[in-house]
Amino acid sequence: MKILSGLNLQEIEQITNELGASKFRARQIHNWIYLKSVNEIDEMTDLSVKFREELKKVATVSDTKIKVKQESSDGTLKYLLEFPDGECVETVLMRFDNRANLTACVSSQVGCAVNCSFCATGKRGFIRNLSYKEIIEQVLTIQRDTGLKVTNIVFMGQGEPLLNLDNVLKAMDIFNENFQIGARRITVSTSGIIPGIARLADNDMQSTLAISLHAPNHEIRSQLMQIENKYPMPELKKALKNYIEKTGRRITIEYLLIKDLNDTLESAKQLVNYLHDLKCNINLIPYNPTEKNDYQKPSGNSIMRFKSLLEQSGKKVTVRLERGADIDAACGQLRGKVK
Ligand code: SAH
Ligand code: SF4
Repeated sequence: MKILSGLNLQEIEQITNELGASKFRARQIHNWIYLKSVNEIDEMTDLSVKFREELKKVATVSDTKIKVKQESSDGTLKYLLEFPDGECVETVLMRFDNRANLTACVSSQVGCAVNCSFCATGKRGFIRNLSYKEIIEQVLTIQRDTGLKVTNIVFMGQGEPLLNLDNVLKAMDIFNENFQIGARRITVSTSGIIPGIARLADNDMQSTLAISLHAPNHEIRSQLMQIENKYPMPELKKALKNYIEKTGRRITIEYLLIKDLNDTLESAKQLVNYLHDLKCNINLIPYNPTEKNDYQKPSGNSIMRFKSLLEQSGKKVTVRLERGADIDAACGQLRGKVK
């Protein structure tokens, strides 16, 4: 049985060829899969009943199951998806006030080897990479389930995208070509894997690169993220400068704010100093408590103070809205509860 979801036009043409149908049928099927997001071949109503019957003998739309679906009071939808081998990943759909913008937060791996101390995904270690088909299947599943068209994609679900870069780049190409989601509407978030950043610089990636910095100095960062010992902040900065120089793009710096740990005046000063010659915007992420550690949420006051200190340095700073807090929509939390 062929799985239509994830095939490109040429691959669909092979199927229609074998069934003795024209290339135009392949184009129709392609539209049904990527733009109209049907659940079943029978919904492809511009194909004859006879042709649909033949197609159903050799192909099906998808083999990915929705295992859990939760809806938050703010409209955020969170899915736990199951692939044929039984492994699960999370995918989140965020609807912002501006209804035209639908952002899918996708996973790139099952589990994650980077093992950051604040992250629920990292706690369970690395299980396997997702194929590019499994990456795009997350978006297709959301589109099929909601009947809505995803407009933006962020690689901020489970996993480290730069440790599965071949599949991530291939999925990005397909988002571009088949889903008509432009590169500028895609963001890749990384814990700072330097060889991956170098490769993206050479490829002149058109999407936004977001760096999970989370700390103002080596001491605090190595406490939060073991990866700091492998790719320390001074080296990371060189890689980012090179990326910005080669691509001409502005990067995003993500900074997780944790009460009394990295939300102090001193931290803000050190962060300003580290970032002063980097072309970047800053996204502050108030820590979302998970069960397995003692970190705490920052107070509203300390978030505002931290933000204005950074703004005084001339940078653009945003605070990430807490989405879906009532459904555990932070990284890795849903999968943790089900397993
Ligand atoms: N591995 C990549 C992308 C996935 S994580 C990375 O780390 O960048 C996406 C974002 O969610 C990261 O910025 C990560 O730091 C953040 N995150 C993880 N656990 C969190 C928590 N408990 N509260 C808030 N943000 C969290
Ligand atoms: Fe992996 Fe990102 Fe979680 Fe760190 S924050 S463990 S890199 S998924």
